[in-house]
Parts: sequence; C-alpha cells; structure tokens
Amino acid sequence: MKYKRVLLKLSGEALMGSQNYGIDPKRLKEYANEIKDVVSQGLQLAIVIGGGNIFRGVSGAATGMDRVQADHMGMLATVINSLALQSALENEGIFTRCMSAIEMNKIAEPFIRRRAIRHLEKGRVVIFAGGTGNPYFTTDTAATLRAIEIDAEAILKGTRVDGIYSADPEKDANAKKFDALSFKEVYEKGLNVMDMTAFTLSHENNLPIIVFDMNKPGNLRKVIFGENIGTIVKN
Ligand code: UDP
Repeated sequence: MKYKRVLLKLSGEALMGSQNYGIDPKRLKEYANEIKDVVSQGLQLAIVIGGGNIFRGVSGAATGMDRVQADHMGMLATVINSLALQSALENEGIFTRCMSAIEMNKIAEPFIRRRAIRHLEKGRVVIFAGGTGNPYFTTDTAATLRAIEIDAEAILKGTRVDGIYSADPEKDANAKKFDALSFKEVYEKGLNVMDMTAFTLSHENNLPIIVFDMNKPGNLRKVIFGENIGTIVKN
C-alpha cells in the first residue's frame, strides 16, 4: 500500500444514490464493502461524511432561518449520516468508533485527538461526526482539520467525478482532466477542489488532496495502492 493512514471525505449527497433525498441503503452497503476491502489490508482509515443529503446551513439561511441555527442543523445531519455509515460498516464486521465534535455522549464519543489516533492504531475505522463543531464551516474543512490532527498522509475526496477538470465535465465536453496539480496551479487556474478555507488549510499544512470517483467499485483500493486514477493536489 502507498498509504498507511488516510482520511476519506464523502459528501452527504453521495449517500443519496439514485434517490433525491436521504440515505440509499444500497449505496451505503457498496461504500461499506469498498471500505472493508482497504481496511482488511491494514489501512488506518478515518472518515468524514457531509450532510448535504439532509440539510445544508446555507440553504436554511436562504429561506430566512438564522444562519448559525441552520448550521447547527447541518452539523446534526452529518451525525445522522455518520451513524448510518457506522451501522453499515459494522454489518460488514468492521470495528468502528464515531467521534462527534458536538458532545452527545449517548450516541458518539467526544472527539479527543489522542484517543482517535489510538483507535486508528488498533485498526478501528474512526468516523468524525458533527463537522468542526462550529457554524460557517463545511465538512471539507472538518475533514482537512481532522486529517492534519491525526497525521493522515492524504485526504481522499471521494466524489462522483473521476478527478479535477479544467471545466465542469458535466457541462463542457472540452473539459480536460488533470492527473496532478500543485496547490499554486489550483489557485492560478481558479479550479474548484474544496472550499477555500479547506483548501488553504491543506496547502498551509502540506496535506495532499486526492480527488477520485468513489462510485466505481475498486477505486478506493486503487488509490490506496498508489494508482493514479484521480487527480492529486500536492506541493
Ligand atoms: N456544518 C457546519 N460546520 C462544520 C461542518 C458542517 O456548520 O464544521 C454544517 C453546514 O451547515 C453545512 C452542513 O453542516 O452546510 C452539512 O455539511 P456540508 O455542506 O459540508 O456537507 P456535504 O456538502 O459534504 O454533503
């Protein structure tokens, strides 16, 4: 394996599968299988999952809701997704721990960095729920922050496109895919990899970002074994 410890970021929308809202159990099981495949090889894996399939703070604010209140709802949405993923992983026989940035001791452990690292060392998949615990942030930022805190070698952003393109490949037929980019090139070309807060945090802490298509079976394994199937952003 190329990596020993990584953080996998999944968007909440990815969990919808073919649905318009919520969680598709079939998709959850597929992800659990992909994850089992790499964890059984000895990979230390932490996961952050978004909440966009249930609630986004920005959308709530757009309807007149207080932004902070709406972001609290968004963070709770990530807890729901994290618990769903935890359950799917446990159904596959994987040992997991869910740690929340917002304390809710009945359903998740509080996030304690050293404890998270210990879980990883013992081979447990750690799911970080509740984002950063603060409004005005995204789960991309939470994922980057946690990846740095646990000394992950890279952040793996599993999406439904297979990498970073010069334009939106779903809209522009001439869009060209990049195999590798430097952080500087991403700024210069104005590409959209993660939101700027998350991206800058990765850059400043020299954390490589790998964008890849998580919906293709076997892709997660390929990334872990160093196959260049997506786009890597590094210094
Ligand atoms: N959120 C937040 N602080 C965080 C992370 C998330 O307030 O540190 C809220 C925010 O409202 C966001 C929602 O949780 O819209 C869901 O997260 P995100 O939009 O990042 O999910 P994704 O797009 O990955 O599904």
